[in-house]
Amino acid sequence: MKQKYNRVYNFAAGPSMLPLDVIEEVSNDLPNYGESGQSVMEMSHRSAEFKQILADAEQDLRDILEIPDNYRVLFLQGGGTLQFAMVPLNLLRKSKKADYIITGSWAKKAYKEAQKFGDIRVAASSEESNFTYIPKLTREDFREDADYVHICFNNTIYGTHYSYIPDTGDIPLVADMSSCILSEKIDVSKFGLIYAGAQKNVGPAGVTIVIIREDLLGNAPENCPTYLDYRIHADNSSSYNTPPCFGIYVAGLVFKHIKKLGGIESVHSQNVIKAGRLHDFIDSSELFTCPVEAKEDRSLMNVTFVTGNPELDKKFVAEGRLAGLVNLNGHRSVGGMRASIYNAMPVEGVDALISFMAEFEKENK
Ligand SMILES: *Cc1c(COP(=O)(O)O)cnc(C)c1O
Repeated sequence: MKQKYNRVYNFAAGPSMLPLDVIEEVSNDLPNYGESGQSVMEMSHRSAEFKQILADAEQDLRDILEIPDNYRVLFLQGGGTLQFAMVPLNLLRKSKKADYIITGSWAKKAYKEAQKFGDIRVAASSEESNFTYIPKLTREDFREDADYVHICFNNTIYGTHYSYIPDTGDIPLVADMSSCILSEKIDVSKFGLIYAGAQKNVGPAGVTIVIIREDLLGNAPENCPTYLDYRIHADNSSSYNTPPCFGIYVAGLVFKHIKKLGGIESVHSQNVIKAGRLHDFIDSSELFTCPVEAKEDRSLMNVTFVTGNPELDKKFVAEGRLAGLVNLNGHRSVGGMRASIYNAMPVEGVDALISFMAEFEKENK
């Protein structure tokens, strides 16, 4: 399959790889979707065909994540970044206080944005250690009257991930799951709101998934712009205005693909194998090290590593590219290397990376 199209193994943090089966299906159906005589790109969002696509996407996502009935699923635009504002705008509904755990750049951006809307406090931060671990917090660490607590569940840039769900008692827990949604089973009922941009693990850029508990709807202030009110989207089944139709369609195909693979458990066990092999190799290597020392805090999706020599890191990334292993550079803010191995990265891609790393180590010791 890889040979057929001359595709590379793309380790980009996002937009990132999609399952080849899905790309082929999109390609086949592009000129004429079903019996509609048109592509999904050209289709009215009020058409029966598109309504079905949207309804199926929601139902399949509900099935995969076992989303309880008292949660609404929204397909929005604006990325994770718009959620940094929509969350405080809609959820600062009583005390106007919220507590944030800072575990990386995205969590910090969310915190900074929220400060425009209320009394926002840092409950904990791992910045002093360059975000190489996840702080362990309990109920007592949060303000009793906080309207919500915000966490970033998987830290795309630093390669860390929560190994536990903080106990916030009655305070709604809000999680940015942009880079880990659908990578593992999660107990949705432990969260008040989950959001995720699609372009890491779900589909093309342009769709943002929001899963929100019903009682958190309808709290936006009077002067809230219409588009930014979750209630409006929930009342109009994500079609208040034109939704990102094509992105929702592709995301829907990815959901069906996950179901075909056997659901979230199968996907998760593949992810454990992939990340396990790569981390085991790095831990046994004399050249490469992973900055995330606490093993339980390591991400299954974003694996960070360095040689300790920035010049050698650059050489690694450049030679990897020539070998068909692309986008292995770390985020521009941290350097080093990062292999993003989302659901769609096949095990063979990880094995190819490990072989390449072993070869590179031999030649550069
Ligand atoms: C990529 C990313 C974002 C930003 O997403 P946009 O869709 O570009 O706004 C936010 N949070 C996390 C955890 C991310 O990985």
